[in-house]
Amino acid sequence: MGLLIRGGRVIDPPSGLDRRVDVLVTDGHIAAFEAGIASREHQVIDARGLIVAPGLVDMHVHLRDPGQTHKEDIASGTAAAVRGGFTAVACMPNTTPPLDHPTVVEYVLSRAAKAGACRVWPIATITKGRMGEELSLIPTLAGSGAVALSDDGDAVKNAGLLRRAMGYARQAGLPVIEHCEDAALSNAGVMHEGMWSTVLGLRGIPSVSEEVIVARDILLAEETGARLHVAHVSTAGSVALIRQAKRRGVGVTAEVTPHHLLLTDEAVGDYNTDAKMNPPLRGQADRAALVEGFLDGTIDAIATDHAPHAPEEKRVEFDCAPFGVVGLETALGVVLTRLVRPGTLPLMEALRRLSATPAAILGRAGGRLELGAPADLVLIDLERRWTVDPATFASKSRNTPFAGWELQGKAVMTIVGGEIKYSDLPVEVDA
Ligand SMILES: [Zn+2]
Repeated sequence: MGLLIRGGRVIDPPSGLDRRVDVLVTDGHIAAFEAGIASREHQVIDARGLIVAPGLVDMHVHLRDPGQTHKEDIASGTAAAVRGGFTAVACMPNTTPPLDHPTVVEYVLSRAAKAGACRVWPIATITKGRMGEELSLIPTLAGSGAVALSDDGDAVKNAGLLRRAMGYARQAGLPVIEHCEDAALSNAGVMHEGMWSTVLGLRGIPSVSEEVIVARDILLAEETGARLHVAHVSTAGSVALIRQAKRRGVGVTAEVTPHHLLLTDEAVGDYNTDAKMNPPLRGQADRAALVEGFLDGTIDAIATDHAPHAPEEKRVEFDCAPFGVVGLETALGVVLTRLVRPGTLPLMEALRRLSATPAAILGRAGGRLELGAPADLVLIDLERRWTVDPATFASKSRNTPFAGWELQGKAVMTIVGGEIKYSDLPVEVDA
């Protein structure tokens, strides 16, 4: 039995479609989308008053599996994803062991197929063990299903090694995703270096720590012809560097997180470890530059950098707490509430940067409504009011800087390959 999603406002950013039509799903694929589809044999979903859009794609997620499954595992992480409207996530390779070998990539893919609620696209390491010393077997990893390469958590320190990696990545057709940070410049800092780090007496991470690596990597991408993707851009200087590089035609793309778009280092306030992440929340001028860079297309995609940590790990002195916040279950709500509703960002553009754009950067189909394509869809209620309550998260972790936020707009159904994987409507979920 297929699904007939009736009466929704269908928005498909790649084609520009924004119209009230019905969507028919059969055998897991999109069979039709047009007005007035009649059906007796399909399960009908009443989507009147709802947005129907391509499922969201998060290109930067830490699933912590294998190795740190007390924080998250593939089942809980993908359950969190579908609750947030995501139908595909790309997972970072800084697991234990890291995704530096085809057997680990295959483990992730098989666990995702068995337990996963959404699609999982593995990202493999650039260097063996993520140690920055020896290249991973890039062609083999590409062949085993890796969609990109990254040593996320660290930049590749050795520029010569990264240059060679870019050569292999280019041949394999994979983007290189860099966590741009110079460890010596960060100098064991724990928050943004600025007025607030002085006030709080905490060691600061200067903006230039990110910017020197963004600049270096742009030059290397330009020289090698590799595709560079800058993860979690956080500073005004990085935005300017990426803007200039794009103008000269360098193959560079970039992402920004909802927390960097919406918060500043002031959120660290009372030594709040749920506002500790890397890169850190920056100053107001940086935040403004990120929004501007996102709106003008310098920054391509929104990604959450979903980084779960157990409550007891975060409930320690600020200096000792691990970096990272969860984001899968709040991203859509905070973007709709704080960027779309005030008129800063058009709805279609928000959906595009949360779906088709990240999918395209990773060279994957997805993020578009197409006849015959897998039915990965999200139904969104733009009016639904809700309060962020970490206790209700499907994620195993609770470390969000958005706890208690009053939001308006929410994913109310997530469909992956034609199966209902999450529903906040009176409709049963497919096992
Ligand atoms: Zn990172």
